[in-house]
Amino acid sequence: MKKVLIIGAGPSGIFSALELIKQKFDGEITLVEQGRKIENRSCPKFKTKECVHCKPYCNITSGFSGAGAFSDGKLSLGYEVGGDLPTLIGENNIEELISYTDKIYLEFGADTRVEGAEETEEIREIRKAASIAGLKLVDCPIRHLGTEKAHELYLAIENFLIQNGVNLLAEKTCEDLIIENGTCVGAIVDGEKIYADIVIAATGRKGADWLENVCKAHGIEREAGVVDIGVRVEVRNEIMQKVNDALYESKLIGYPKPFCNKVRTFCQNPGGFVAQENYDNNLAVVNGHSYKELKSNNTNLAILCSHKFTYPFDDSIAYAKKVGEMANMLGNGRILVQRLGDIKAGKRTWEKELSRTNVKPTLPDAVAGDITSAIPYRTMISILGFIEQMDKVVPGFGSDETLLYAPELKFYSNRVKMDKKLNTSVKNLYCLGDASGWTRGLMMSSAMGVYLARQLVK
Ligand SMILES: Cc1cc2nc3c(=O)[nH]c(=O)nc-3n(C[C@H](O)[C@H](O)[C@H](O)COP(=O)(O)OP(=O)(O)OC[C@H]3O[C@@H](n4cnc5c(N)ncnc54)[C@H](O)[C@@H]3O)c2cc1C
Repeated sequence: MKKVLIIGAGPSGIFSALELIKQKFDGEITLVEQGRKIENRSCPKFKTKECVHCKPYCNITSGFSGAGAFSDGKLSLGYEVGGDLPTLIGENNIEELISYTDKIYLEFGADTRVEGAEETEEIREIRKAASIAGLKLVDCPIRHLGTEKAHELYLAIENFLIQNGVNLLAEKTCEDLIIENGTCVGAIVDGEKIYADIVIAATGRKGADWLENVCKAHGIEREAGVVDIGVRVEVRNEIMQKVNDALYESKLIGYPKPFCNKVRTFCQNPGGFVAQENYDNNLAVVNGHSYKELKSNNTNLAILCSHKFTYPFDDSIAYAKKVGEMANMLGNGRILVQRLGDIKAGKRTWEKELSRTNVKPTLPDAVAGDITSAIPYRTMISILGFIEQMDKVVPGFGSDETLLYAPELKFYSNRVKMDKKLNTSVKNLYCLGDASGWTRGLMMSSAMGVYLARQLVK
C-alpha cells in the first residue's frame, strides 16, 4: 500500500488529501500539522484584545486549514492573482482547475454569491479612472467566505478527511526530510522517522524559511523569488464605498516612479478589521480580515511593493524579516500605525492625534509611531507614489487621516524549481502552496493541491 505524507495542513495540503480521496487513491495518507486541530484553534485576542503571543505556535497562522482558518476567506476566482502557478502548469489548465476547486468549496458550504463577476457601468468607470491614474485594474471575481464561515467550512473538511481515513497528526512538527540517494523517503517528525513513498511539503508562508533551509541543506533546487514589503491602509467605508459595492475587492497594480517596482493592492476588507499575526521568533506582522455579519466603519487593504534580490545577495526572506524586526523594535513589539498626513509632514503620529480623526483604528493594540523610520526608502517612496495614484481612482484615499500600519510582509520568496507535473529535483518530493513560492492565496494554493493529487493518481 502506497504511503503519502503531507507536511502542513493549510489549504494546499488539505486539498491534495481531499482530491486523493475523491480520485479513489487507495493508499495511506498522513497529514502532519504543527498547530492544533481546527476545533481547538482560537485566538485569545478576541477576549484579551491584545496579542498574547501563543506558544508554541500562533493560532492565526498555524493549525488545521493553515493561515486560512481565521482568514477572511476571499476566494479569488481569476487566475491573474494568487501567484504564478499558471506560468508553471499552463493557463489552459488553470481555469478548469479553479472552477473545479471552487465547486469543492461550494460542496463544503461556501456562499454561492460571487462579487465582481459582471462588467457593470461602475466597474467600467473604475477601470477608466485607474487607466488615467496609470494603474491596471485586474479582473478577479471573488467568493467571500467570511472569517467565521471559513472556520465552519474547514471543520467540515477536517471531519471529511478523518472519516475517510486520513491520519491527522496535529501538534507535531516536521523537523527535516529524509533524503537517500536523491529520493525523499520520509520525514523526521518530533524526533521520529516517518517513512513514505511520496512526501509533500506544504508548510505555508510561516514555513517558507524552514523549507528554504531544508532545500539548502539537501541541495533541493530552488531559485530566489520576490518578497513583498508594504503597509496595511485603513480608511472610512464611505471613501471606498464605490469600489466596495462594485467589486468588493479592487486588484490594482502600478509601477510608480522613480523605482518602477511592482506595487499592488491586496486583500481588501470592506467593513473589516486590521489584524496581527505572529511568526515564530515573535515577528509581528499586520494583516486584515472581515466577517460576514460583524462590520466596522472602515475598509482596509494591503499595499505591497515587490522586491527581488539576485546578486551578490539573494535571501529576500532575510531582508523582509529585518524590515519587520525594525518596525517591531520601533513599536516595542507592537504593530506601528501612522497617519498619512504625518508622514507627509515628516513627523511621527501621537496617540492623541489618532483619537481626533474620523478613522478609528480597528487594531486596538497598534501603537502610534513612525513607520518611515523602519521601511526602506525605496519601498516607502514607491508606496507613497502608489497612494497618490490610488487617490485619483478613489478620491480621499490619500487624505491626511488615512492610516498606514506596518509591517505587512509576504514571505514567498524561496521558489522551489519544479516541472509542469510538479516534480522537484528530488524524487518523490513535492512542494505545494505558499511555501513552494508558486502561490500566494487560498484559491491558488488549494488548486495546486488538487492539481498535484491528480498528477499522483495518474
Ligand atoms: C489573516 C490572513 C488573512 C488572509 N486572507 C486571505 C484571503 O482573504 N484570501 C486569500 O486568497 N488569501 C488570504 N490569506 C492567505 C492565505 O491564507 C494563504 O495564501 C494560504 O493559506 C496558503 O495556503 P498554504 O497551504 O500554502 O499554507 P498555510 O495556509 O500557511 O498552511 C501551512 C501550514 O503548515 C504548518 N506548518 C508549517 N511548518 C510546519 C512544520 N515544519 N511541520 C508541520 N507543520 C508545519 C503551519 O502550521 C500551517 O498550518 C490570508 C492570510 C492571513 C494570515
